[in-house]
Amino acid sequence: GSTKAAAHFVFVPLNEQGHLIPAVDTALLLATHGALCTIVAPPSTAARVRHTVDAARHSGLPVRLVEFPLDYAAAGLPEGADHADRIEPRYMMSYYRAVALLRAPIERYLRARAPYPTCVVSDFFNPWTTELAAGLGVPRLSFFCMCAFSILCQHNLERFHAFAGVEDSNEPVVVPGLETRRVVVTRAQAPGFLRGIPIPEWEALADYIERARAEADGVIFNTFLELEPEYAAGYAAARGMKVWTVGPVSLYHQQAGAAATLASRGKGNNDTPAVDAAGCLRWLDGRDPGSVLYVSFGSIVQPEPKQVVELGLGLEASGHPFVWVVRNAGGYDEAVRAFLDELEARVAGRGLIVRGWAPQAVILSHAAAGGFVTHCGWNSMLEAIVAGLPVVTWPHFADQFLNEKMAVEVLGIGVSVGVKEPLIYQAVKKEIVVGRDVVEAAVRSVMGGGEEAERRRRRVRALAAKARAAVQEGGSSHANLLDLVKRFEPR
Ligand code: UDP
Repeated sequence: GSTKAAAHFVFVPLNEQGHLIPAVDTALLLATHGALCTIVAPPSTAARVRHTVDAARHSGLPVRLVEFPLDYAAAGLPEGADHADRIEPRYMMSYYRAVALLRAPIERYLRARAPYPTCVVSDFFNPWTTELAAGLGVPRLSFFCMCAFSILCQHNLERFHAFAGVEDSNEPVVVPGLETRRVVVTRAQAPGFLRGIPIPEWEALADYIERARAEADGVIFNTFLELEPEYAAGYAAARGMKVWTVGPVSLYHQQAGAAATLASRGKGNNDTPAVDAAGCLRWLDGRDPGSVLYVSFGSIVQPEPKQVVELGLGLEASGHPFVWVVRNAGGYDEAVRAFLDELEARVAGRGLIVRGWAPQAVILSHAAAGGFVTHCGWNSMLEAIVAGLPVVTWPHFADQFLNEKMAVEVLGIGVSVGVKEPLIYQAVKKEIVVGRDVVEAAVRSVMGGGEEAERRRRRVRALAAKARAAVQEGGSSHANLLDLVKRFEPR
């Protein structure tokens, strides 16, 4: 009956925006259905989401954010190393060690306060939460901010040793174990649990992560069943564990009438300066419906200076209006900064360059938005689908090459710029990877009025409608949320 105590989820997210934003959205969603959610995080991570969580608390949701200070010295981390926009790669392992040291204080905190937790939901990059959940004696769910398709591809590539004996990292290999589709990928493009990253001890972390994935009691995906039923089921079968698809979680903000929190998503006080959402919207108000291209590479990717210029020239040549997010623009040299100013002046009112954190989900859902040049981070892809926008795909690393295949080959909603291998984490390449003519052609193709462009738009709009249906009463994601809340009620 109604006197039964509610489920209590403990969220242990990762500091990276692409992991943090959907984890917090998921916690808010579970809270809307009556579950208590405690989000635990070090101060620099908490700072990024405090605004969103506070707004949700004030609207009456049972959600709280608890900070646990990091012991920098014990982890060999310079004081304040995590206060910059991102953790530098050379501090990455120490950072993970520092966060893992929070296990004991978090467990003590949770034991000392009622109600007792009933489930730990952790980012797969926090494998130490296996011990946290075991110490508390509660189940642990992995939270994936990636799609089931890419996770299943990764899993099968590893499980069936698909790259064994393949010398050339650019040699295409068929992803094994996908029954209904032939997907071809190279070792360079496959995330392979992020192996091959030149950070000491990273391989050991990859093994730890894989063990934690294998030992989870279940998985929460930010995707929706109707988008990729065979891959969600495929991952559940391959792992022998229950899978809950609860996305697209960005729709929470529209659903709960919490539009203010949509604009503040990810806008933390330790990020590059955020641009004024109202100003962006005013600019978009002056454009024709479906006419504006949104261009962004997410929260991590920082294109090389020459590539920034080349992309700008391609956008200019395309003739289409654009909002272009240049992350950390102040970090570029004088020449690039001057180029951006001159470009803006040349296209006079046709292009808006955002030099900092943009209210992406708000921009994408504006009626003037018509297409999205994306690095294929899964959150961005899903936000494009929610907004019914076709994409130009430009992957850089991690799951992004597989997400590109999802968009172009599986869903038929994207045009690729044809990048063959990742750049990030390799010795920095200074040459131009994608020429201005390629940018121009891909943009014209996606924004144009041709038959294939129309078909792409129809497909992505149909998916947008399915996404909305999934999160509404009676929809698959809605039902999965209710199931989570019910299943993890205290016994
Ligand atoms: N984002 C944003 N403003 C920006 C850049 C990114 O709001 O200027 C949000 C974006 O909407 C998405 C997340 O940050 O929710 C980025 O996640 P994604 O998986 O797309 O890429 P990542 O940053 O992890 O590479």
